[in-house]
Amino acid sequence: MKVLKFGGTSVGSIENIHNVKTIIDDGEKKVVVLSAMSGTTNILVAIANDIAETLPNEAIDKINKLHESYYTTINQLITDKYLNEKVKNYVTEVFNFLVDCTYKTYSESLENNIVAQGELLSTFMFNSYLKQEGIKSTLLPALDFMRIDNSKEPDIAYIKKEFASVFRNAGDSEIYITQGFICLDADGEVSNLQRGGSDYTATIIGAAIVADEVQIWTDIDGMHNNDPRYVENTKPISNLSFDEAAELAYFGAKILHPQTVTPVRADNIPVRLKNTMNPNALGTLITSDHIENGIKAIAAKDNITAIKIKSARMLQAHGFLKKVFEIFEVYETSIDMITTSEVAVSLTIDDDRNLENIVTELEQFALIEIDKNQSIVCLVGHSIVNHQETYKLFQILQDVKIRMISYGGSKNNISLLINSNDKIKTLGKLNDYLFELVTL
Ligand code: ADP
Ligand code: ASP
Ligand code: MG
Repeated sequence: MKVLKFGGTSVGSIENIHNVKTIIDDGEKKVVVLSAMSGTTNILVAIANDIAETLPNEAIDKINKLHESYYTTINQLITDKYLNEKVKNYVTEVFNFLVDCTYKTYSESLENNIVAQGELLSTFMFNSYLKQEGIKSTLLPALDFMRIDNSKEPDIAYIKKEFASVFRNAGDSEIYITQGFICLDADGEVSNLQRGGSDYTATIIGAAIVADEVQIWTDIDGMHNNDPRYVENTKPISNLSFDEAAELAYFGAKILHPQTVTPVRADNIPVRLKNTMNPNALGTLITSDHIENGIKAIAAKDNITAIKIKSARMLQAHGFLKKVFEIFEVYETSIDMITTSEVAVSLTIDDDRNLENIVTELEQFALIEIDKNQSIVCLVGHSIVNHQETYKLFQILQDVKIRMISYGGSKNNISLLINSNDKIKTLGKLNDYLFELVTL
């Protein structure tokens, strides 16, 4: 069986919902994972923020506007009178729940419950729409099987067992629809897999059922060789290895949640990226095969903080790095890049929530310098560290100030740390000289 995930844009308009129906209605049994309609999760987060700032009127205003827009969509999508009323009743219940939330005191748990409504709405609507179109579909509630553990990792053993039971009890159907993104935490409270998490839901389910393939249907024809939000003329890549896809997703290629390939790589379950608006386009196939052809793609990750830890006396001493790493471990902050010299070590983090505490502890034995507003630009391709093109990098980027460089950590990745103000220029130059064959 295959798992097909459709993102926010794919379920964000009547025309695209019709496309989704055409794509999935091929007579094959499948699991369909849906995101919230595009824009909905952002509005739900904004509503939670209003509640946190005790601005209930602003929250209610947003809730009313969103409610109206759902009514318009339902009237266009669900023309069957009985189903139209059933969906409207469900949607009204959801919006009444949101209004009730505005009378409550903000908590993280309240926010998680609010943002979960987006996927609950889209899946209920889509399931009813398929019924109207005479397609045999069944809803599998994600909260009945999707759970993360105390380290916020998916609890695969539990998910495998519970999904099998929910699936069995659902009876025979052609399409099994479930919510992306949402889950329960180890205490049974509603939680989620972080923004963009529906991709992750799809591969977690893919791993749980050992799917034939996981397909991520989105608004672009696969993984492009550079970030299309900042660079013109980017091109789709037909094949990527799990390693390459993981690097690109982790280092900022928004098309995939950073953890997307993690659950499926051990079982070598292929992941295919496809465009809902252009289903005939080839897309990108991610497998364990390595196809060697130099630098394949570039991605960039923002909001990076660089920390320079300087200590002439202690760096040569063994145990110094251990002492440094232990501090980051205590504050559950992972390090992305690291470079060392005789007198200092520089490293980067993207989660700066505990920066103050980390710096206070490091200052006990070192001098610290902090650079905020940094971006990691990551170049990916099989064995690129050995590739001829790679040697051009410094020449191409001669007018960009490179703060750190990571080369040789893996054969497939070279990362550069630059000021975020230089990001668009850097991505553009790399694109021209590496992919558009502009000569130096
Ligand atoms: P969905 O809502 O379907 O999950 P996303 O917005 O999360 O879609 O991801 C698709 C978007 O990712 C594209 O529209 C594109 O702007 C952005 N993107 C960033 N980097 C890349 C890349 N390297 N290749 C393709 N898309 C990318
Ligand atoms: N709806 C969630 C978000 O906007 C999850 C997803 O779209 O993947 O982040
Ligand atoms: Mg996404």
